[in-house]
Amino acid sequence: MGCRQRAPASELLRIVAVGDGADVSLRPDPARSLPGRGANMHPDPACFAQAVRRRAFGRALRAAGVPDHGAVAEYVDAPTTTSGQPDRAKVASKVGRPT
Ligand SMILES: [Zn+2]
Repeated sequence: MGCRQRAPASELLRIVAVGDGADVSLRPDPARSLPGRGANMHPDPACFAQAVRRRAFGRALRAAGVPDHGAVAEYVDAPTTTSGQPDRAKVASKVGRPT
């Protein structure tokens, strides 16, 4: 979805959109267990950045506007990021728990 290189689904990270209308957040779904429309991308910061730049999430997930992708950014950045993200609290409160 980001770089458009083909890959087996097992190597891709599923992303789902949670929420309605203009208040949509993206969540990483590595277990592929969340309901709803999903999009696949490489679990890679560069691929994610391309998807964000092209606004591919909004199109793929039929979300109005630009979804909040903080949770996904945190997920793909996790292996290389040691310090806390400034918007971690906002993301956590906005994403919440699956229902
Ligand atoms: Zn990619």
